[in-house]
Amino acid sequence: MDFADVNGQEMAKRAVTVAAAGMHHLLMIGPPGTGKTLLARRIPTILPQLSRAESLETTQIWSAVGRLNARQPLMVLRPFRAPHHTISEAGLVGGGSTPSPGEISLAHNGVLFLDELPEFNRRTLEVLRQPLEEHCVTISRAMGSLTFPAKLMLVAAMNPCPCGYRGDPRRRCNCTSFQIERYVAKISGPLLDRIDIHVEVPNVPFRELKDDTTGTTSAQMREQVQIARDRQRRRFQREPSTVNGSMTPPQIRRYCKLDAEAEQMLQAAMEEMGLSARAHDKILRVARTIADLDDSETITAYHLQEAINYRTLDRRYWAS
Ligand SMILES: [Zn+2]
Repeated sequence: MDFADVNGQEMAKRAVTVAAAGMHHLLMIGPPGTGKTLLARRIPTILPQLSRAESLETTQIWSAVGRLNARQPLMVLRPFRAPHHTISEAGLVGGGSTPSPGEISLAHNGVLFLDELPEFNRRTLEVLRQPLEEHCVTISRAMGSLTFPAKLMLVAAMNPCPCGYRGDPRRRCNCTSFQIERYVAKISGPLLDRIDIHVEVPNVPFRELKDDTTGTTSAQMREQVQIARDRQRRRFQREPSTVNGSMTPPQIRRYCKLDAEAEQMLQAAMEEMGLSARAHDKILRVARTIADLDDSETITAYHLQEAINYRTLDRRYWAS
């Protein structure tokens, strides 16, 4: 493993920590291999433990579809669901003649991992948009409608280009910028709009990643997440949203005040990268979490810069 890999892997772990700390949806971009999947699988273990109420909710859903382990009547670990890209719309969000919960509800209070995101059916991905926003899904039938909870952290992964080896020193990539642009465009825009953080993940030998003693450990990541969550709990004491990732625009204006230097930096980045108002809000939400991880009430240029770095796909990625 060379130095660039170690560095890239630490940066990816940092992005995962930020995402988990604020419950931001995350997109990992990197060559095929085990890196992205192993990092994703780690996320349920660095999120705060299930509360008693969360544990009961999740248990109820799993029990409704007969997925509960008979020897363990109460779920104590956050679920991790990784449906294959061939999954149907009903399989993902729920459905059937007698409506039953789908993968997004099995992932309630946990992580939904969509590997090879561009391979998913575009329409299947588009139906995810609303549940991600409302934290539940309603299935309507002639007899009436049923609502299932679906409060989850979405973690998606994709290759950097159609062949998968763009930027990888070990293999040559001949993909043209047109092919890469078309590949990125396969992801549903409305879904991409819900994802706050993009991060590039280098492929790392399985052995190195499995060994949790290399670099930042899961225990250290969990500790950092907890510090940021404590700050968020105090902030949102009397408010409906409890994490930075689901702040509404009025909350963003209220809680994401920038110092003068950061304000100037954001304006410059908006112009340079041609960012939308939505991207602007995403940067502020993530910057809020980064400041929380730093145990700081003020968002400084330093926090903001890191949040801007997590907008990989906004910077005409295919042309770079
Ligand atoms: Zn390629």
